[in-house]
This record gives sequence, structure tokens and C-alpha cells, in this order.
Amino acid sequence: MSNPNDGLLKELGISASPDDAFENVSTEDLAKEQMRIDNELKKLELQDRLETMAAKKRKLEEKKREFDARNQAIRDELGRRAARQRMCGHRKGGTTRAGQRDPLPPEGGDADVYALIKFQLPTGDWMVICQRCGAEWFPADPWTGKPETVIGGISHSEILMYKTDNTAGGASQFKFEDNRTPAEVERDRWKPPRDENGNEVPDIRALPPNAGRALHPPPAVRATR
Ligand SMILES: [Zn+2]
Repeated sequence: MSNPNDGLLKELGISASPDDAFENVSTEDLAKEQMRIDNELKKLELQDRLETMAAKKRKLEEKKREFDARNQAIRDELGRRAARQRMCGHRKGGTTRAGQRDPLPPEGGDADVYALIKFQLPTGDWMVICQRCGAEWFPADPWTGKPETVIGGISHSEILMYKTDNTAGGASQFKFEDNRTPAEVERDRWKPPRDENGNEVPDIRALPPNAGRALHPPPAVRATR
């Protein structure tokens, strides 16, 4: 004999015929059993969530280690370059000692002329490049107040006077006119680099080895209007 509710129960995924296992079990006991199963289900869900979180955390930590290692490698390379530029004599010449991996002696050459290229910028100012260590010196920037480059204790104005027999380069010159508002001048103003804690970062190229001082902007920043 078919029950008129059979179709509806079937749709809801409930078996129309009572389970034999529930025969002679009171409604109260069934409710208790349901509560117990509910609790088990919740425990399983919680466990699943905890495991997912742990997996995510592992993945994050793995990524962090990877980035830390990459960061360290870049820091090391920048440090090596800075040390090389601080130590370089920026001179031509020099003899290679046998068995050296680097064809150039680390302290640079010994010729009386420097391995420098002087290049005139469109502003009329000069920049200087060392062919041996790749160091680049720029003059103080009147537009931002950025101080002149200092590498290994040698400032831009000093290196500009060093004798070289290389041909100077240049770009076409033109006149600059500053039409910035005072707010824009302030926005562009150079500020000494700082670390994430707000402390000034010393310029690792600027000073001779073991002299750890930070860069400072010149006392008065000229804001041409
Ligand atoms: Zn050099």
C-alpha cells in the first residue's frame, strides 16, 4: 500500500520506509543519538578547518623562507658591489696576478690616469662613471635636494677633478624652468632613506669601510620658482 507522502519524502532524500534498526527505539533516544552524531560531525568539520589552516600556514612559512633567502641574496650582492666600489682606486692599468679569478686587481689599476668617463647631462651638470667598478657619481640635485654622490669617501665634486684620458661624453643641453607649486616642490624633496622602523639607513657606499654614517640633505634646499 503506497503512502501519499512517498513522492515528497523521496524528493527530500528521506527513506519512506522506516529503518529496521530504529524499531523499538524511543523518540527520546533517537533525539539523543541525533545530538551525538551532530556533535561528531561538528568535531570533524573543526578538524578539517584546523588542518586546512595548518596547511595554509605551512605554505605561507615556506614562501616567507623563500623570500627571505632571496632578499638576503640581493642584500649580499649589493653589499659586495658597494664594497668593490668603496675599495676601487678608479685608476687604469694594474697587473693581474697569476691564478686570480678576477682579471682586475681588486684595488684597481696603478696608472696615473683614472678609468673615468665624464658625461655632461642635459642640465649642464656632469656625471662620472668608473669603468672598473661601475660606480656612478651625480652632483647634488637642486630640484629635489638630493646630496651629491659620495663613494668610498670620494665626492662627486672631487672625482670630477680626477685626470683621465678618456673622451668626455655629452647630451644636448637645454634650459630647465621650474613651474612647480610649493606643494609639488615639497612632494619631490629628497629624504634620506629609512628602514621599516623609521631609522636612517647608512649609505653603505658613501664612506670608507667601517665608517657608518647616514647621508644627510644639504642644510638649505633651494626651491627655484
Ligand atoms: Zn672604480
